[in-house]
Parts: sequence; structure tokens; C-alpha cells
Amino acid sequence: MRRKIVAGNWKMNGSKDLSEKLVGYVRSESVSLDKGVEVVIIPPAIYIGDVVREAQGNISVGIQNVARWQSGAYTGEVSSEMAKDSGCCFALVGHSERRQLFGETDKMVAEKVSIVVGSGLTAIVCVGETLEERESGRAEVVVAGQVREGLSSVKQGDWQNIVLAYEPVWAIGTGKTATSDDAQAMHAAIRDVLRDMGAPADEIALLYGGSVKADNAADLFSEPDVDGGLIGGASLVAKEFMSICRSLSAGT
Ligand code: PEP
Repeated sequence: MRRKIVAGNWKMNGSKDLSEKLVGYVRSESVSLDKGVEVVIIPPAIYIGDVVREAQGNISVGIQNVARWQSGAYTGEVSSEMAKDSGCCFALVGHSERRQLFGETDKMVAEKVSIVVGSGLTAIVCVGETLEERESGRAEVVVAGQVREGLSSVKQGDWQNIVLAYEPVWAIGTGKTATSDDAQAMHAAIRDVLRDMGAPADEIALLYGGSVKADNAADLFSEPDVDGGLIGGASLVAKEFMSICRSLSAGT
């Protein structure tokens, strides 16, 4: 059976106080969720220890980015092994902000995926087209290319540590969301690409991300190939985030 996941990406937001209060709330409320739903909090790296402590093993923790190297003279970088050592189970790879603001390419994504999976974490690999790419009818081709190249380093047997997040760039932080039909169509296309790559496509969780809120989550999660969500802004508001988690729980 495929994993069902709601992951909250705090981006460069949050504080020690939020780590305590929001995570404490989510931890206590998450006991009422369907057991098959995994809740993941992905705070800025400096708060991982605080979030892990507050999560008390009941919810999972991820890191937003890892280095392409195992260790060494890379001032300012954090390795996947360090994230694991600090209590993370997940690592985001290739978020569109990393691609656009920090020049992350599909080749770098593939290197990071290899490092993340090698250290025993689950990689949440983000893909998605820009508005221009969608309007010119190239969305599926662009996303298929990102999937093929970004996952080119995955070995047979490591696919259970891969989750994909389809995040149309034009929907991230904008309040615009893909329709559930468009999200479903892209997720089905991604599954076809995975199948073609020899991956166990029906077992890989595909998350949707891009302005998911409490009032549109149930609709998106009702689609057969949408296995959860990657949530940005709404993951910073405890009640809203829990409401999104409940939408997935109710649909399982
Ligand atoms: C994200 O940062 O991955 C994201 C989907 O952001 P938002 O939910 O704010 O659009």
C-alpha cells in the first residue's frame, strides 16, 4: 500500500516558540488521525532539534535541504547523515525555491537524492512547471524530464525511500491551486514515467503542493493518484495544518 503523507514545509519561518507550540498541538491532535497518515514537519535546520524533542516520536521530522557531499570543508552546509543523526526521517530535495534561487539543477537533485537515500532518509523530491511552461503546453514534458533526471541515481530496492511532490511553481505561495483534475492528470503522468523507468510506480507516494489550504485539501486528496500534500504557508498555522491532515485522514 502507498504511504499517505502530509508534510509541512516551514521554509525560512518559525521560531523556538512556534516549534514548541505548533508541534505540541499537532502531536496531541494527530492521535485522532487514521493510523495510515504520516505527518511530517520540516522546519529550518536550526530548529530540527527543538521540533524532534516536541514531536516525541509521534510525528516525523524532515530537513529542507542537504549538501551534495557527505562531509568536509563545506562551510554552512548540513549533511544528510547529520539530519538523520538529529532525528530526521525525511529530506526535501529540489524544491522550486532551491532550483530558482540557488541554481539547483536536475543533476544536483540526482546527487542529493543518492546521498539522502544512502543515509537512510526518505527523499521528498519536488518537481513542477512554471506558468510559462504550462501556458505553452509543455508542463508534462518538463515535469517528466525532472522526474527522469532527478531520480536517475535511484537503484532498484531504494524506491521505498522516494516520495515525489508535484508542485506547480505558479501555485506555490500564490493562492492559486491546480484544479483537482489537473493535479490528478499530472500525477497519473508522473506515475507513467516512473513505471517506464522500472520503478514500482503504484507504491510510490505522490504529494501535491501549491497553496493547499483547509478548504481545498479534501478535493485534491480525493483524487486517486494524490497521496497527500506538501504544505507551505498553511503549515505555519496549527489549526489549519491539522485540518489539512484530517482531510487526508478522512479520505483513507
Ligand atoms: C511549498 O513551499 O512547498 C508550498 C507548497 O508552499 P505553499 O503551500 O505556501 O504554496
